[in-house]
Amino acid sequence: MWEYKNIMEDMVEEIYEKNKENLACCDCPRCHCDIIAYALNHLPPHYVVSQAGALYAKTYLMNKQHEMDITAALAKGSLLVKNHPHH
Ligand SMILES: [Zn+2]
Repeated sequence: MWEYKNIMEDMVEEIYEKNKENLACCDCPRCHCDIIAYALNHLPPHYVVSQAGALYAKTYLMNKQHEMDITAALAKGSLLVKNHPHH
């Protein structure tokens, strides 16, 4: 069975996990989702078909500029959530 998937979601989660101490934001489920949603709304989607996803994400993140773009979107999102938390 073929499936499509926006692997930007996985990549944003991965970078979030790596940087959450630096982001110094509330780690409750609501704030977590608000930060991820903000970042995803400000990054281009990357749809891939089925198992190609993991490999594509690895290659995409090898480009440091891509990783920095995701980190920057997460930093902006966490600042916004810190100032206006919904929890
Ligand atoms: Zn919170």
